Amino acid sequence: MCGIFGYVGDKNCIPYIISGLEKLEYRGYDSAGVAYLKDKNLEIKKIVGKVQNLKEILDFNDFSNMGIGHTRWATHGGISVENAHPHTDCEGNIAVVHNGIIENYKEIRDFLISRGHKFKSQTDTETVPHLLEEMVDKEGMNLEEALKELFKRLEGAFALLIIDKRRPNTLYALRKQSPLIVGFGTGENFVASDIPALGAYTERFYYLEDNQMAIVSDREIKVYDL
Ligand code: GLU
Repeated sequence: MCGIFGYVGDKNCIPYIISGLEKLEYRGYDSAGVAYLKDKNLEIKKIVGKVQNLKEILDFNDFSNMGIGHTRWATHGGISVENAHPHTDCEGNIAVVHNGIIENYKEIRDFLISRGHKFKSQTDTETVPHLLEEMVDKEGMNLEEALKELFKRLEGAFALLIIDKRRPNTLYALRKQSPLIVGFGTGENFVASDIPALGAYTERFYYLEDNQMAIVSDREIKVYDL
């Protein structure tokens, strides 16, 4: 069991994400990472080991209004920086963190490689950003359509938290058989895999149900049944 934490709002996401990941450490993990916006691009930082090690390589002078973080318990691919989350698509537009297992990742990965996608890790998770890229850039869907289509194409149990640098004020949270909770703030909102990570910031929560997607911005949360 690993951990997910995401922030979107009017403050700097980085201290929130680190503090959220620290509160999820009790769940056990082998590596950790974050993705946030820097100069309109995704900045990704990942390490093997403890959240403390991640803190040491982060630049706390960076300011970003949204970001996602993850503590990984490896199931597919060894314990390495490359396999740590977040994972991205070829163009570096989309970043994904994931709890759980994508059962049919092999066939999706083979299909995406045949379509020219370059993988950087051995994880099941990395199929997600590349599949979204394929659906958006090659199959002509918008991101919301592609995320809904993901539920049809992915088999297994997953909690996914996704950002796209072209949507600089939005977190996309998807849940199928792996817990994910949205926390409501004022001018800011949160997503996490467990309550302890949110308790310091808000007492108002929504537990996503199976096959639901939340689109979370600083002022609005929309939940879809899929
Ligand atoms: N299956 C994914 C991986 O091995 C996610 C594992 C987890 O839940 O931390 O990277």
